Amino acid sequence: MDLGIKGKWALVGGASKGLGFGCASALAAEGANVVMVARGAEVLAAAAARIRADAPAGVQVVAVAADITRPEGRAAIFAAPGAPGTDFDIVITNAGGPPPGDFRAWDRQAWIDAVDANMLTPIELIKATIDGMAARGFGRIVNITSSAVKAPIDVLGLSNGARSGLTGFVAGVARSGIAARGVTINNLLPGKFDTDRLQSTIEAAAHGSGAPVAQVRAEQQARVPAKRFGQPGEFGAICAFLCSVHAGYINGQNILADGGQYPGTF
Ligand code: NAP
Repeated sequence: MDLGIKGKWALVGGASKGLGFGCASALAAEGANVVMVARGAEVLAAAAARIRADAPAGVQVVAVAADITRPEGRAAIFAAPGAPGTDFDIVITNAGGPPPGDFRAWDRQAWIDAVDANMLTPIELIKATIDGMAARGFGRIVNITSSAVKAPIDVLGLSNGARSGLTGFVAGVARSGIAARGVTINNLLPGKFDTDRLQSTIEAAAHGSGAPVAQVRAEQQARVPAKRFGQPGEFGAICAFLCSVHAGYINGQNILADGGQYPGTF
C-alpha cells in the first residue's frame, strides 16, 4: 500500500531511539522527509545516518540536537538549516516520560516538569504547525502518549496526570475547524515496547524486588496476552499508517498498541 506521503515533511521528537526512532524510520521508508530531534547529538547523528542509508533516494533526513521540551529547543528545530521552518505536514510529538515514584514525594517542580514535557510541549508543537497544515489542506499529528492514559499505573502518577491533560486538550482540538481542512490529530498509546526506557523500568523493578532482571522481564512479558513486548518497528508502522492519506477519517482517537493487555471491552 502506498501511504501517499512521499515528499511530505515530518517532525519526530525523541527520535534517536525507541518509539520515536521507529516512527522516523517508518515515515522515511515511505518517502517522507524527516526532521529527527533528540538531546544527545552523537546517538542522534548515528540514528539519522541509519535512516538515511535505508531510505528511498531523495528522502531528506535532518538531525537537530535539541531539548524539545524547552522553548529554545523548539526555536532551534524551527530554525534548523534544511528543515521546513514550521511548515510540517506531519508532527509526531514525543519526549522522555516522567520518572516513576510515590506522589507524596513529588513537589510542585516535579509536576511542572511533567506537565511541561508531556502536555505543554505537544500543545506548543501543535500550536506552531496546525494552522499551516490546515491552510495547505493536509496535516497529521500523532502524539505518543501511553496506555497509562486508559489504564493508569500507580507509580507513574506524573505520566497518568500530565498525559491525561494532553488527551483532553487533543479531544477538543481534533473536533474543531481543522477537521474539515484535512488535518487529523490522534494519540498513539504504547503498552510495553522493547526500548531502553522499558529496560530501565525493568531494571528498577528488579532492583526494588531483589529478583533477577531476566525474571522480571519474563514475568512482564507473560502478563501481555501476546506473550511478548512490542517492537519499535511495528509501532512506527502504525504511526506511519495514521499519517497516511488513507487515515484521513481517523481523528481524535486514542489508539492502543499493547498486545491486548488492556483488559476492558472498549
Ligand atoms: P527511549 O527508548 O528512552 O527513547 C526516548 C527518546 O527520546 C530518545 O531518543 C531520547 O534521546 C529522546 N528524548 C528524551 N527526552 C527528550 C527531550 N527532552 N527532548 C528531545 N528528545 C528527548 O523511550 P521510548 O520507550 O521510546 O519512549 C518514548 C515515549 O513513550 C516516552 O514518553 C515513554 O514514557 C512513552 N512510553 C513508552 C513505553 C514503552 O514501553 N517503551 C510505554 C508507554 C509509554 P535523548 O535522551 O538523547 O534526548
